Amino acid sequence: MIEEIARSRNGGREARSAEVEDPIDLVTSSEQVTQQFQVGSIESDMLEQVRAALQRIDDGTYGICIDCGRPIGEARLNAIPWTPYCLEDQEKHDRQEKEAPLLGS
Ligand SMILES: [Zn+2]
Repeated sequence: MIEEIARSRNGGREARSAEVEDPIDLVTSSEQVTQQFQVGSIESDMLEQVRAALQRIDDGTYGICIDCGRPIGEARLNAIPWTPYCLEDQEKHDRQEKEAPLLGS
């Protein structure tokens, strides 16, 4: 709040330039760029899962399903090393996403 008041006293120049550089405004202008943006968000989801997996290695819980606490199969970890779920729970989550696609939006 104090910072906003200080900025408006300076003519609000800083706040205005930050709005113009907002990347969301830039990508909504073209359909092609919007598609690239969607691909990018899928990639960042995966990145998020990889980061979480690295965190679990740090915590010593890597390879253990975060839902049921049972060990994730070795074959599954070889295929998807960053997966937080055992096969059973992954299937549950896949099913939930299909049944409630609007959840969380
Ligand atoms: Zn599980």
